[in-house]
Amino acid sequence: MSLLSETQLTLVKKIEGCEVLHDVEMKKFSTMKLSSFGTLVKVSHIEALKELVQYFANQGIAFKCIGWGANFILPEKPNFVLIKLDIPFDKRAITPDQKVFDLPASAPLNVLTSLAVKYGFKGWEVFTGVPASLGGAIAMNAGTNLGEICELLESVQILRADGSVENHNVTDNSFSYRANHILNEGDIIIGARIFHKGIDPTIGTLIKEYLKKRTDSQPLKEKTCGCMFKNKHLKTSDLELTCRAGLYLDIMGAKGLNVGDMRISPKHANFMENHGESGSEEVKELVSLALSELELHYGVKFETEAHLP
Ligand SMILES: Cc1cc2nc3c(=O)[nH]c(=O)nc-3n(C[C@H](O)[C@H](O)[C@H](O)COP(=O)(O)OP(=O)(O)OC[C@H]3O[C@@H](n4cnc5c(N)ncnc54)[C@H](O)[C@@H]3O)c2cc1C
Repeated sequence: MSLLSETQLTLVKKIEGCEVLHDVEMKKFSTMKLSSFGTLVKVSHIEALKELVQYFANQGIAFKCIGWGANFILPEKPNFVLIKLDIPFDKRAITPDQKVFDLPASAPLNVLTSLAVKYGFKGWEVFTGVPASLGGAIAMNAGTNLGEICELLESVQILRADGSVENHNVTDNSFSYRANHILNEGDIIIGARIFHKGIDPTIGTLIKEYLKKRTDSQPLKEKTCGCMFKNKHLKTSDLELTCRAGLYLDIMGAKGLNVGDMRISPKHANFMENHGESGSEEVKELVSLALSELELHYGVKFETEAHLP
């Protein structure tokens, strides 16, 4: 059944700045290219977004925001409308004579990385190789072994579910490992003030070397959603330990394990690859198999990093 009635569809289409893709195949909206069929609205400016969200709230229509779908396991038939921000971003606004930038949530992280290489923006190496929109990266507090995006944020602009816009000043409590503590259900990040930590001409080399390391060790050309499981940090009075889900799965011999077309990557065991027509059900089955085997073998309860339906 359609998520929007004919009347609702007509009204949403009338909002200037909204493009509706109604009842369509949504494979191209997630990096895992999962089989999914649903409705997505692309929004090109904030006023349109406000009007849309208010209309959905009045009509009781559930929605979720999607960025690049790089950590979003799309259900086969989502019972919510996807909202994708398509707010124009002009990379020429980022120049080396500035330290702080106000960027829309739709700004692509790979473009920011290429500017970091060009200008030597210190700190921006932390998101090297992370496929994401800025909004999605902030929502997930994306990061690498070099650091996390929250270290570079001064403030985050949020459209709250009640229609108000809040400028959240980032503090030490705003984020933790791959999580934010600033969004509630229905809130949307619309922009952020991001800074760099000075100019360092060696940053370009650091980023290129890190990218090469990632390409050599991770299946970046496959259809994945990045790391499926969060690493687990354990701390007792006399021990501090990071349990790496990928390493543990590798030691167990789980590389190549599959459910249908979904398999644990032979290159890096924390990645799952879609080799055909998989949907979210196969992902869920493989995830639950991996989680139970991890707990059985190591006594560690891991959690997923990717958002499962
Ligand atoms: C090959 C590959 C490598 C990866 N490597 C890394 C890595 O090294 N480190 C890392 O941290 N991640 C990594 N990832 C995962 C992914 O890139 C990150 O989680 C990224 O932050 C997701 O951004 P996105 O724009 O795709 O968000 P999506 O996946 O579309 O969404 C993720 C979550 O954020 C929410 N969201 C998205 N946009 C907004 C918004 N504007 N407002 C409010 N909520 C929003 C969504 O509702 C969803 O809950 C990798 C993924 C792939 C495919």
